[in-house]
Amino acid sequence: MISTVLYIALTLTFKTYTVRYSMLRSWNLVTVDEIASTFGFDYNFASRGVVLSDAQGNLLTIDTVTSTAKVRGQSVKLPVMLKRKDMKRLAIPADFWAQFMRILWKKQNRYIYWDVLNHYFFETPYAPSIKQFLITHKSDTLVVKISHERGLLPKIFVSRDTIKIWIKSGFYAGPCWIEGDGKIYEFARIKHSKAGVAFKFRFLRDVGYRMGRFNDTLSVVKFYPESRKRSGSRASNVAGVRRSSTAHTRPIKVIVIDPGHGGKDPGAIGRRGTKEKDIVLAIAKKLKKELEKRGFKVILTRSRDKYLSLNERTEIANNANADLFISIHCNWSRSRVASGTEVYFLSTAKTTWERVVAMRENASFTKYNGNGHKKLDPIDDILLDMAQTEFLQESEDLAGFIQNGIVSRTGLLNRGVRQAGFYVLYGVFMPAVLVETAFLSNPEEERKLRSSDFQWKIARGIADGVVRFKSAYRR
Ligand SMILES: [Zn+2]
Repeated sequence: MISTVLYIALTLTFKTYTVRYSMLRSWNLVTVDEIASTFGFDYNFASRGVVLSDAQGNLLTIDTVTSTAKVRGQSVKLPVMLKRKDMKRLAIPADFWAQFMRILWKKQNRYIYWDVLNHYFFETPYAPSIKQFLITHKSDTLVVKISHERGLLPKIFVSRDTIKIWIKSGFYAGPCWIEGDGKIYEFARIKHSKAGVAFKFRFLRDVGYRMGRFNDTLSVVKFYPESRKRSGSRASNVAGVRRSSTAHTRPIKVIVIDPGHGGKDPGAIGRRGTKEKDIVLAIAKKLKKELEKRGFKVILTRSRDKYLSLNERTEIANNANADLFISIHCNWSRSRVASGTEVYFLSTAKTTWERVVAMRENASFTKYNGNGHKKLDPIDDILLDMAQTEFLQESEDLAGFIQNGIVSRTGLLNRGVRQAGFYVLYGVFMPAVLVETAFLSNPEEERKLRSSDFQWKIARGIADGVVRFKSAYRR
């Protein structure tokens, strides 16, 4: 496939730049100082901000009074800015830094993007594969035209109050943020990763959408008020409806517990033959009781010994409009002495061990997924989690609270909060963690995991963590 070849070619020639960044809402902020030292800018302080100049003497001005940047005659409004007394620590979103550098260095064929998944800048010498991204209005319908290279295929993903147009291997050198019209959408944000680009819209009202492809190089998406009758457009091949809701402010009430594996997939198997799928189901049922006692509404993805596909699991969570997602598993190692508990949130694995654990758990969906579901595409999966990046901080915090909860109830070795790319966490639009309770490969822990008492301790530890998370976020 053309796009796969393109993707590989691009990947091989990416140059990456790691920088320090901080988080503000969903933005990654990078300071003037950090950009200057990474990309070779000089900078001077001006009365209203700072002026950066590159090796060719091109100027980039940031005005802290009007929150505006000026580059090559273009004036760009910044939606977020972190002002500090020390001007070199002035910070703006990494996506904007990338956009400004693309404007500055277009003629040199240097295209810099911020990778929202891996949190670094990457550079390509290739002209962007998306030529145009145009938003226009036709009465109360929003028309988005995307012209792109042959072989690129836009896909649509719907979450609570946003709709994302994802284009694998797509790179767009235009603005990273577009202010909305105040009627239909609040803003559109353009997010890159090495895998491609997502055009993400936040809507102010319920909308339906249709997507059409007019030829190999032009795709059109129309968003219209949900109440409008959906019929008649000949170009359409996809349609859907989303509901708006306020994900981040509503109280935590509904929790989805996902006992891993099940049915034909036993999960890890202990030395005495204990199956992970049975242990995690027993713990999940106890956790359900424990959380209900503490006033939560709980939904189990499975309550019996049954295989569930990846889609089935994440759909249960998303359709329930749940507030938290907790997947429960048992760990396994070649070494019989490996022991303890670890809680994961979704991010790029930083250690070999984290990668090994994620591969083992993900195999559940690649090895046993034979019932007509599309084979998993690792690159598409990377994108799905762009939903999870919104909940990154919350998921990490939740993981920490649960980790502490389990350790203090059970006395298990604390292996710490960890991060890796678990498929089951990718598609859920809420704070989500995966708990590796203890090691089935460790004879002592296998014995404990079989005991009802110990299962209760784990369940109570997880519930303690959820309660602490809830009060930490005061909701
Ligand atoms: Zn597992």
